[in-house]
This record gives sequence, C-alpha cells and structure tokens, in this order.
Amino acid sequence: MAKQIIFIITLLITLGVFAYTVRRLYYFFRITKRFPIKNYVKRFVLMFEVSFLQTKIFRKPVIGFLHALVFWGFCVILLGSVEMIFDGLTGSERLFYTDGLWYKIIFASGDIFALIILFAIFFFIIRRLFFKIKRFAGRELSHKNHIDAYVALSLIFLLMVSLLAMNVFYCVENPVPLKGYYPVSMFLAGYLQDMEHESAVILYEMSWWWHILLIFLFANILPYSKHFHVFLSVPNTFLSRLDPLGKLPNMDNITKEIKLMMNPETAFATPESGAAVIERFGVKDVEDVTWKNYFDSLCCTQCGRCSSVCPANLTGKKLSPRKVMMDLRARMNQKGPGIIKSGKDFDDQRSLLNDFTTKEEIWACTTCNACAKECPVNINQPTLIVDLRRYLVMEESSAPSGLNMMFTNITNNGAPWQFSPEDRMIWAKDIPQNMKI
Ligand code: SF4
Ligand code: SF4
Repeated sequence: MAKQIIFIITLLITLGVFAYTVRRLYYFFRITKRFPIKNYVKRFVLMFEVSFLQTKIFRKPVIGFLHALVFWGFCVILLGSVEMIFDGLTGSERLFYTDGLWYKIIFASGDIFALIILFAIFFFIIRRLFFKIKRFAGRELSHKNHIDAYVALSLIFLLMVSLLAMNVFYCVENPVPLKGYYPVSMFLAGYLQDMEHESAVILYEMSWWWHILLIFLFANILPYSKHFHVFLSVPNTFLSRLDPLGKLPNMDNITKEIKLMMNPETAFATPESGAAVIERFGVKDVEDVTWKNYFDSLCCTQCGRCSSVCPANLTGKKLSPRKVMMDLRARMNQKGPGIIKSGKDFDDQRSLLNDFTTKEEIWACTTCNACAKECPVNINQPTLIVDLRRYLVMEESSAPSGLNMMFTNITNNGAPWQFSPEDRMIWAKDIPQNMKI
C-alpha cells in the first residue's frame, strides 16, 4: 500500500509538471496562424512509411539502421512502461500478464531491444565524442545544445540499464515459469544464481523505481530539449506537406486582398462585422508563422542532415536550414511568454527576422528543397524561408537589387526582361514570311 501511495504522489507530480509544459505550449500555439489539414488517409500512409518503416533514415544505411532499431525498440518497450504505470497504480505485478504467446513475444522483444538500444546509444555517444561528424557542428549549435544531446543520450542509456537490471533481478527473484519471457535477462541472471532471494527482491524493487522515475524525468525533460522529437516526430510525419516540394503555397492574405478589391463594400466593413481583415504579408515574427511551422521547429532533432545537403551551406553561405528551425523555436521561447502576458500587441523591439534569422541567410536559399527532402521527420524549411522573404518584399520592399529590377520589369513590361512588350517580336522581323508559323 505504501508503494502505491508513493507511486501515485510521484505520478501526480509528473503529470502536474507535464501539464504545465503542455499548457505553455498550447498558449504558444495559439499565437500562431491556422494551417488546414486534409487528406487523412494519405497522411496515415505517409506516417507509416516515414515513421514506422523509417524509410528516410535508411538513406545512411548503418547509422539509419541503428536509429531505426532504437525507434522500434522504444515502441515495444513503451508497452512494458504502460504496464508498469498500471502496476504502480494498482499495487499489482505484471497486471496485463496472460499465458498467451503475445505477452511473451512483447516482453522478449523488449528485453532484446533494451540490450540493442544500450549498445546503439553507447555508439552514438562515442560517435559524438570522438568522431568528427561535420553535421554535428555549426555556428547555430551552442555548448548548451551539445550538452542537451549528451543529457538525453545518457538518460536513454540509463533507462535501458535500469530496464535490464529490473528484468535480471525479476528472473533471479522468481522461479521458472516466469510471467513473460526474457532471453537476455535470463541469460544474465544465470550468473547470479547464488544471490539470496531477499537481496534479489530488494534489488528488483530498487531497479523498478529507478526505471519508472527515469521515465517520469525523461518525459518532463524532453519538451525542453532537442529530443522532443521522440514525442513529436510521428505526428509531424502525419502533418507532412503533401504538395510537391517545389510548389509554393498561395498566400491567404493575397486571396483576401483580391476579394476585397472585387467587392468594395467589404472594404469599409470592420473586423467586428465579420469582414476579412488583412494581416501582415509574409513572416516577420512568431505571430506570423503557422502552427505547423512552429510544430516543425519543436520537432527538429538538430541532426543537421538538412544543412549537410544545402547547396548554400555547402558553398560557405551563412544559411543553415537547421538554424532557421532552431531560430523559430528560440524566438517563440523569448517572445511567447510576453504575448501570453500582455496580448498580441506585445512588442519587445526584436523579431525573428533580422534578430534571429538574417536577410543574408534567407536570400542565400535557392529553394531547391534538398533540405525538406532529406529531413528524417519531414520538416519543411523552405516554406518558412520563402515566407520570411515575402515579408521583406511585400511589406518592406527590400528585395535584393537584382530582384527589384525584375519586379519593375514585370510591372512595366509584363515580363522579367527589360524590353517593352511591343518590341518582343523584333527578333523575328527578318525571318521570311513563309517560314513563320
Ligand atoms: S531549399 Fe534553401 S535551405 Fe533548403 S537546401 Fe535548398 S538552398 Fe538550402
Ligand atoms: S530540420 Fe530536419 S534535417 Fe534539419 S536538423 Fe532538423 S530534423 Fe534534422
């Protein structure tokens, strides 16, 4: 009973802290703009392919396979963690146990995956520490970002150690047949057969608490770290962009503006009367991005795959698509609380554009979409970059001079070239009449 009470108090504290985080994020999302979601079936198929089959991560076969094993292992181990929570609440042990094969398969896979994940995470830590992986460096990655990565990897490592310890002492403590099947732990328990039963019981209880407390800690640290993708990557693949990557999304504001021009009566209507209100064109700050843009930024794993294929980044330009995502998240953390407290008019004299992502960076983008294609969690960086440019062009008229010339030509000549429309066929004036189509 004492265990149950302590567990319930611990769970309530965990849920309370988690609820605070979710509430904070909910208010941040409310600052952003709408982003309609359709085509649910297509999205489910895509989510299955990218998340559960891990198709994109396999572009780098070795590291991709290790990462996929970690993901699949997490999915299986999660089932055991759910059972642990119900065990803690009800004071029972292995509450969902049935004599059927499924229970044995799930727990045997969890046991094997725990060992695989342990080795994989150990390799990831060694790789970060000693291999000079270029995409793990970049001016956008601070010391804190690197520490963040090590903390999350170490927590996962400890989670697997505690899970295996729990299973091993469970096997030592209980006579065969056990509830479930634990091939790795049964093998390791073979070396501890001389251990006294009481010691095994105590060590099992200790590792049970160690494991569940790490799960609670992990769940509350993740939303503040780059490893938030553990929660968000699956939904983010569901929310993937379905249009061809090269297609630029239309701007709702332009549609509204044209509707106003077509129907002058609405031009004099007020927002209170339900009329369309023209907002800012493009993106200057966090209140201009869609909730999907913000979701992308939370989901970014900072893996750097996008920047490693970005032609602008590879040729020494300042642009890094990873930084664009990190900037949005950082700016929301900076401005979001102020907007929640003081309303949408809150102004801290800073903005996402210029103070975080600079003009030099966004104009370096070739809109090739290599970053979006490479991203393992289907983040779409170019749409945000294009929207930042749209703000500069349509609100500040501050496009680079080469583009301004092209805009003037389009306005005056109906084409990007510096020729009058009347002169367009001059090149063909010497062609004999009978050769013209
Ligand atoms: S779309 Fe822009 S940011 Fe993305 S890879 Fe191409 S140049 Fe880089
Ligand atoms: S945007 Fe995607 S590819 Fe780029 S760092 Fe983030 S998760 Fe990795």
